[in-house]
Amino acid sequence: MPKLVICGSMALDTIETPYGKRQNIIGGSASYAALAAAKFCPVGIISSVGNDFDLKRFSSVGKRLDLTGVTILGRTLRWSGRYDYAMQEAKTRSTKLNSMAHFRPTLPAAYQSAGFYLLANADPRAQLELLRQVKPKGQFIAADTMNFWIFRERAKLLKVIKRIHLLCLNENEARQLLETPNLVQAGQRVLALGPAFVIIKKGEHGALLFSRTGIFAAAGYPLESVIDPTGAGDALAGALMGYLASQIRLSSTLTVSEPLVRKALVIGCTLASFTAEAFGVENLVAVGKEEIRNRYEVYQKIHAF
Ligand code: AMP
Repeated sequence: MPKLVICGSMALDTIETPYGKRQNIIGGSASYAALAAAKFCPVGIISSVGNDFDLKRFSSVGKRLDLTGVTILGRTLRWSGRYDYAMQEAKTRSTKLNSMAHFRPTLPAAYQSAGFYLLANADPRAQLELLRQVKPKGQFIAADTMNFWIFRERAKLLKVIKRIHLLCLNENEARQLLETPNLVQAGQRVLALGPAFVIIKKGEHGALLFSRTGIFAAAGYPLESVIDPTGAGDALAGALMGYLASQIRLSSTLTVSEPLVRKALVIGCTLASFTAEAFGVENLVAVGKEEIRNRYEVYQKIHAF
């Protein structure tokens, strides 16, 4: 039984960075998030792919992934993006939503005992539809989004934010959505909407965590080689939620403390750093427990003073 449910996109990506180009490789917010989360707990995915997506191969790379909630319809979402020399943010070349355009999530019976939900980047209308199906039992719910949806579905996205416990978004998305250039103000404005925690991702510079008890700054791991940052943010959110789900049991009094979220965020940044070291999900799949533990320990030293 999954402890964490991840709903989001599964895609075939074409990515170009200064280090090369890959065509039609496994991508999508749910793919990255679930592969990262599965390092910590069993995960159930809810998504939609086409006949052109090799689900068998995906399940063979992703151990502990339940794909009961993945429907097959038409063609898979295709996203194409390019990074320039600074490798800060992808310039989207094209997005064809394909099967994700008509995606209406259904929560499988086997997922209903999960205590943690991650609404990874997808249409906020689909995120709201899933929220409607979750019978409240004290679950902890997080969501992520991107500029594409902030422009197209802002009102629906704000509805989602009012109903979740943790929001994850990158710094430019935070500025766009909260209509302020200042990230501290953006974080405070999200807290005023309802979530107990807000994480603003700052790419290679790490992430900021805002909560009612204050602000925590997680450093970016000092990588010597960044090959492809695609999906690093999704991996961060997935690992964070996977770690929380591995630590806490579902109960009507489920409380996720701020110190635990701090630790989960550093674990999220650790998995994000592995993701950026190779194209697509390659390194995320390959990385083992010991490497994760070693890098987490380096992280602890980076934060100590
Ligand atoms: P990120 O690096 O966090 O921007 O996430 C990249 C992933 O998001 C890629 O693997 C894409 O397939 C996926 N993606 C791109 N556009 C969309 C969209 N409009 N909705 C959902 N997922 C998307």
